[in-house]
Amino acid sequence: MKLGTYTFQPEKAQGFDFHVLRVKPETGIRLEPVPDMHSNIAVFADNIAVRNHPDWISQSALGPAKMGNNNYNIYWNVVCATQPDHRAEQLSYMQELDQHSPGVWLNSQYFADHGHCTCPRCIELWRKSGLGWLEWRRKEISAYMEQIRERVNKELVLCIQPDPVSSYERYGVDFDDFAKYADAFNVVMFSKNYATPWYWEMLTRGFKKLLKKPFYISLYVFGPGDNPKDVPTAAEILTVSARCARAGADGFLFLTDNASQIQEFQKAAVANVELRNRLKTYGGQPVQELLDRVSIWEKLV
Ligand SMILES: [Zn+2]
Repeated sequence: MKLGTYTFQPEKAQGFDFHVLRVKPETGIRLEPVPDMHSNIAVFADNIAVRNHPDWISQSALGPAKMGNNNYNIYWNVVCATQPDHRAEQLSYMQELDQHSPGVWLNSQYFADHGHCTCPRCIELWRKSGLGWLEWRRKEISAYMEQIRERVNKELVLCIQPDPVSSYERYGVDFDDFAKYADAFNVVMFSKNYATPWYWEMLTRGFKKLLKKPFYISLYVFGPGDNPKDVPTAAEILTVSARCARAGADGFLFLTDNASQIQEFQKAAVANVELRNRLKTYGGQPVQELLDRVSIWEKLV
């Protein structure tokens, strides 16, 4: 059971096995890599790239992959996944990050969603391929993962959306193809509350059945600019962690803007002795390992 922090600021809270820094989040803003923090980048979701090159945006019959297009769950602007200049620049960027940090964690390294991308280049590439539409999309994404693997020598972790059933149709993502290139997966299970842990546990069981590499689950603790009233409680986060641990997750990342918000979560988790005792009965070794880690936090926070 490995635990990591996942932050927008280059700050490290104590009591974790590793730290992942959002070096380039979907806003497209770039931070300097940090030698002892893994570098996380959103590849095709990139507001700055789309601002600089509006014609690069991913297209579909339901409109472009643009913030505000409510046909999709898109909260930023997404570059077409076959855009050659963006692909090449991102490959070089990943190589540079690999040299200056312990590894590269990717987000948004696939098509924006179902029906993307229908730009003239994609339509031409698809027609020339002789493949069916979904198989062509898969081939485009998997071939890019192979190129990425050639550039990243250290740890490479591939994010997947919390959809074990339709990722192929929606994003062009084939889990078995990804497993050839990834050291691990990161299943992003962000939510502003985890009041019903049963659903997250079910998704975890689905991924455990399908994924041929270890997988982390990323949980939402406190995002940039959040109101403390609108974020999940420490009790919810601890409970959903235990439920997903018993269903087979290999580790967890906790997303915050900065280190102090992680420390607040640690303090609240440590203080809830009644919940920690109750969770001991939730299912064997993985849950116990998680609770042991929380016990170590007692001395740190
Ligand atoms: Zn396209």
